[in-house]
Amino acid sequence: MRTILVVAEHRSGELRPVTLELIAGAQTLKQGADDQVVVAVIGAEADKFVPALSVEGVNEVVVVKTGSADFDPDFFESAVSGLIEARSPAVVMLPHTVDSLGYAATLASKGGHGFATDVFKLEYDGADLVATRGGYNQKVNVEVDFPGKSCVVVAVRANVYKPLEGSGSPAVSSFEAAAKASRSSNREYIELGGGNDVDITGVDFIVSIGRGIGEETNVEDFRELADTAGATLCCSRPIADAGWLPKSRQVGQSGKVVGNCKLYVAMGISGSIQHMAGMKHVPTIVAVNTDPGASIFTIAKYGIVGDIFEVHEELMNQLA
Ligand SMILES: Cc1cc2nc3c(=O)[nH]c(=O)nc-3n(C[C@H](O)[C@H](O)[C@H](O)COP(=O)(O)OP(=O)(O)OC[C@H]3O[C@@H](n4cnc5c(N)ncnc54)[C@H](O)[C@@H]3O)c2cc1C
Repeated sequence: MRTILVVAEHRSGELRPVTLELIAGAQTLKQGADDQVVVAVIGAEADKFVPALSVEGVNEVVVVKTGSADFDPDFFESAVSGLIEARSPAVVMLPHTVDSLGYAATLASKGGHGFATDVFKLEYDGADLVATRGGYNQKVNVEVDFPGKSCVVVAVRANVYKPLEGSGSPAVSSFEAAAKASRSSNREYIELGGGNDVDITGVDFIVSIGRGIGEETNVEDFRELADTAGATLCCSRPIADAGWLPKSRQVGQSGKVVGNCKLYVAMGISGSIQHMAGMKHVPTIVAVNTDPGASIFTIAKYGIVGDIFEVHEELMNQLA
């Protein structure tokens, strides 16, 4: 029997969607009928997440009560290393987020486990687990295996697996983690940039601009286009990093996943893996780019090889 342990992530009292994605991913690692998916939920109010975690494919939810309702790297490391010792999972799946960044490496190195971060594909090659991650600033895909490791810790990207829709009735148990003093405390959560801005995860039509717009003064033209078309203006990371649009408008791995979007018009965006992580699921993607080899065209339903300023002008004429 093989155990796949998924560590749930929650923030400000809400279960993070990536948890359900990882639960779906864990199903793909089951090889035998008695393989088990166990979900650990850690925190002072961890038990309140049990109903949300009672989904298809979960055999057991383990509640680990700690001294903090919020994420705490020391408590998480202590809880997960205790669970690894107690349950001997073959694979421990953590979301590849700022939380796991705070404890995953320590957890793996102290325990002598196999370890890979930023994983976007996981599968068994015979008896060997193989994790695929980006390398050389996402220019190549690297396959990592873990010879001789009985436990492998993987931090898996969001938006790789689609959550399962069915409900389940897992066993619920509790686990006592070794007491550990925390070296940090949480003061408050601050959403970066544009606190009162629109929530782009809920909108259904997006016009998104990338570095192809060239200069900040051009942003207003595309804002006007988005407003006229009834869309929400979003962007790739360089635009948010430059402060041309608030961080809350950034789509992608370190931005937002635009879960409800039905139509996404990408203007001057190359289609990096990190950008696509936030929008590749959108049913209708329209891409405008001067470079016919731009990666965005690999996922676009409709593509225009051309200049975004010409397309902008034509669209404004059509919409007038
Ligand atoms: C850990 C990490 C997390 C990241 N998270 C994110 C994230 O959340 N979101 C994100 O977007 N990026 C993210 N990135 C950055 C990402 O790797 C890319 O650098 C970024 O997405 C590139 O943005 P871009 O497509 O706008 O720019 P570029 O890659 O520079 O592409 C600009 C495109 O515009 C086209 N172009 C230029 N002029 C015109 C014109 N006049 N008309 C039409 N097309 C034109 C070019 O052909 C080019 O394809 C992250 C990177 C890392 C390492």
